[in-house]
Amino acid sequence: MDASRAPRALTTEPLGLNVEPFLDASPDAVIAVDVRGRIVYASPRVEQVFGWSPEELLGEPIERLVPSRLGDRHAAHRAEYRRHPTPRPMASALELRARRRDGTEFRVEISLAPTRWRHGPLVIATVVDISARTNVEDQREHAYEELKLHTGELEQHAREMALLTQMGELLESCQSLDEAYGVIGGISEPLFAGDAGAVYARVSSGSVVEAVSAWGSPPPSRTVFSPTDCWALRRGRLHVVHDREPELKCPHVKEPIGSGLLCQPLVAQTETLGLLHVQVRRRAAGKARAARLADRERLVETLGKQLALALGNIRLRATLREQSARDSLTGLFNRRYMEESLDREVRRAAREGYGLGILLADLDNFKQLNDAFGHAAGDAVLRRIGRFLAGAVRGEDIACRFGGEEFVVILPKASLDDTYRRAEALREGIKTGTHDELTGLYPTATMSVGVAAYPEHGTSAAQLILAADSAMYLAKAQGRDRVIVAGGSEGGSIDASAE
Ligand code: GH3
Ligand code: MG
Ligand code: MG
Repeated sequence: MDASRAPRALTTEPLGLNVEPFLDASPDAVIAVDVRGRIVYASPRVEQVFGWSPEELLGEPIERLVPSRLGDRHAAHRAEYRRHPTPRPMASALELRARRRDGTEFRVEISLAPTRWRHGPLVIATVVDISARTNVEDQREHAYEELKLHTGELEQHAREMALLTQMGELLESCQSLDEAYGVIGGISEPLFAGDAGAVYARVSSGSVVEAVSAWGSPPPSRTVFSPTDCWALRRGRLHVVHDREPELKCPHVKEPIGSGLLCQPLVAQTETLGLLHVQVRRRAAGKARAARLADRERLVETLGKQLALALGNIRLRATLREQSARDSLTGLFNRRYMEESLDREVRRAAREGYGLGILLADLDNFKQLNDAFGHAAGDAVLRRIGRFLAGAVRGEDIACRFGGEEFVVILPKASLDDTYRRAEALREGIKTGTHDELTGLYPTATMSVGVAAYPEHGTSAAQLILAADSAMYLAKAQGRDRVIVAGGSEGGSIDASAE
């Protein structure tokens, strides 16, 4: 029979199939659809599933129960089924969705069975609402995703902890701040993988901070800026900028906010040493981005504390080392440091084939000066002479207080002739140098100087000191306020060496 000629008013007549009582009793919604896609039977269960009574559906197109966006696909699917009518589940590979009376969608499973009635082919569809089941599946999938995320977070935290520990250990054995900055840059690269950042240190004047290590590609572009350009440095606490708050961005940041900007001041014992700055680049979205920024925030705070402590310790160690090499009254190097240096410089001169000069100076009649003006006045003269010597020698020279009112200057790479001239200049210089600063209360100090050189007067530190000391005593004996070269009289051996 030609289906298209089937009468329209089929809707109220019984199907005439002997299975009809079974269909009525089915716990699932059962719908029979004719060849034109009209509903010709709906089981009582349909009302609970779709919200329509069976009577309301009779004669309606089946697409009424399909979300309208899927209507075309459904019609095509029906046409295809008409060509190959076999009992089977409908499109098991697809996620099937149906539409309730109130327009809401839900997931369904449908099985199709072809049959015939007196008006032609008929398809009986059994529809099972699986939204409850899929909710459980969704939840399971969601829980799995969460678990995966947490596992990822745990792994990342473990990696971060390992890197932080490694950095802490390396920083502990750093001798200088420069070494420490190298370590920080090297470890921050994997620690902040994907993000850019820098550590800035306050330069001694305090008027600017300067990038001392940086990471990321590219790293933050500003390398020097004023501390007033950073909110964190101004307020002495962590400063976080989210992309919703562009007005909080520090002026020192040239890059866009990305997922967020973090500035953590490095404070050790109330003193600000510098700044840890991290730019969280944009990758994640929404919740994940916020979580990532919070993660970075925690990391920056932890690392900031660790860096401040480590850098403070390195600085303290350097200061102690420096202090242990200095004489507290004059600020010159002390005797221990001089002896170590002379030893090292003599060996270097031997290795590299250079000369080396040394002069030993003893202030004249200093006891009298103390007696006449008091010990404090004597100290003041020693301090002034210390300042004068420190300023008068070249950068590579080592000026030190040998003890009491005696001074030694080591002149690496200087010849005997050079050393003699420098000794003369210093001997004259302390008179004017001291005099300038005198208020008239203190007399001008003079000094007697012995000069010795490597290799002429010895090949070890001890030999050179002894030679210079003997020459100094000779200068005292010859009337003080003069320079004597080891093994000769005033100027004597210089004439010889100058020829
Ligand atoms: P000269 O060397 O010319 O022979 O006479 P002098 O009076 O300088 O004799 P000497 O070198 O033996 O004495 C050194 C004096 O320097 C003894 C001490 O009172 C004084 N002196 C040593 N160290 C200090 C110091 O730290 N402060 C002061 N004020 N005086 C010192
Ligand atoms: Mg002396
Ligand atoms: Mg003396």
